Amino acid sequence: MPSPILGRGDRGTGGLRNMLALWSALERRSFRHFSMYLTVLALCGITAVFAGFAARGRHLLHVQMLTRARAEFAGVMLVRRWNAEHGGVWVEKHPGDGSPSSPTVPSLETADGKTLLYRSHAVMTREIGDLSRRNGATVIHLTSLRPLNPANRPDATEREALQAFERGKKEHHWIEKHAGQATFHYMGRLIVDESCLPCHAAQGYRVGEVRGGLTVAFNIESVARRISTDVAVTAAAGLLVFLALIGPVGLLVRRLRIQLRDLRRQLEAAATTDVLTGLANRRFLMDRFHEELDRHRRFERSLGCILLDLDHFKEINDRFGHLAGDQVLRLTAEAARRAVRPYDILGRWGGEELMVLLPEADIALTSQVADRLRELVALDVRAGSGERDGQPVTVSLGMTCSRDGDEVDTIIARADRALYRAKQAGRNRVETES
Ligand code: GH3
Ligand code: MG
Ligand code: MG
Repeated sequence: MPSPILGRGDRGTGGLRNMLALWSALERRSFRHFSMYLTVLALCGITAVFAGFAARGRHLLHVQMLTRARAEFAGVMLVRRWNAEHGGVWVEKHPGDGSPSSPTVPSLETADGKTLLYRSHAVMTREIGDLSRRNGATVIHLTSLRPLNPANRPDATEREALQAFERGKKEHHWIEKHAGQATFHYMGRLIVDESCLPCHAAQGYRVGEVRGGLTVAFNIESVARRISTDVAVTAAAGLLVFLALIGPVGLLVRRLRIQLRDLRRQLEAAATTDVLTGLANRRFLMDRFHEELDRHRRFERSLGCILLDLDHFKEINDRFGHLAGDQVLRLTAEAARRAVRPYDILGRWGGEELMVLLPEADIALTSQVADRLRELVALDVRAGSGERDGQPVTVSLGMTCSRDGDEVDTIIARADRALYRAKQAGRNRVETES
């Protein structure tokens, strides 16, 4: 007899479950990528903004230092020019003032007995530089590629700058450490003008020619420290902004993930649960049947299978109404839940039919559970109003166990034949086909 129970398309929920698993994996991957991109984007964006601020701050301080250096250079040059335009100046010799007047110009004695020393613009510049250095202020250094005074020989950086001046460069500035202190150096050109010729024409000076350079250098350690502090503060601010941004966004993403996961679980439950009884549905049963049979075959174990069918359910519906019939189905499901073992797989197979799969159960054990099922339904389930005074409801059950070479269909067909026999034999009974 063909099985009235085993319908077409009983492929189980494998497809659906695979789809949900795929969805879950996709969801996880998408969220991982999304979080990664968001973090990298936020990190890059914030780093760029704050690095920009830090660079701008550095640049402004640098411009400030350069402006100061240019002003100091211009001041020295102005005093030099004033000196040169006067053909040098005479200064009064004071006690302890050891410098000679000049190698070429002897000192003068005034009528009132004072000694006057001659100071060319070069000597004056050097002396102003010495005074400034002694006072811990700006260091002034006069230099040339062809120095008249060996003390004016350039250092390595000054030499490069002087060479660059000869190629047309107008100024050069750099930062160097001296005794652990950051020092800003500025070097400008010394160009021969008319005022230089009276003294230097004999040395071959020509107007407009670059004769050398003048370096002004001052301590910028406090500024350098301020820049470092600014960079550290900016980095900390950037980090705080990043955390302040990523924290709430992370929470939002997490909440979204949880909502999606709940939705997926609801969908999964809806796809595998019978709405009326809350038991597993037929798709789920089929899926688990295939899985369990595979496992039992591998370990050569016996899988029990029980089919349960309500007796004369059509009459119950006709007599008490469809809603009362639904209630009978729910009560039967409840009784079945209590009758089976926790790890048995119980589901609604069809209209008024339930199925139980019993892992690791032989005929004796399956038969015990089937009897308990029948007894509990007969004891607890009533149709119609009133818990105890309603019409008793009975069930017929067909049971079997898996054998070597069995397929899902052949097991169900055996259980179905046993059920048929139970019906034929008068209902409210368990029949076995082993
Ligand atoms: P038998 O003892 O031979 O099994 O008789 P039966 O009346 O139970 O069997 P039959 O196959 O003739 O009728 C089954 C009935 O179950 C018919 C159908 O209306 C009813 N039924 C199926 N699903 C539901 C449901 O979800 N709710 C209700 N109330 N009735 C249902
Ligand atoms: Mg039926
Ligand atoms: Mg029936």
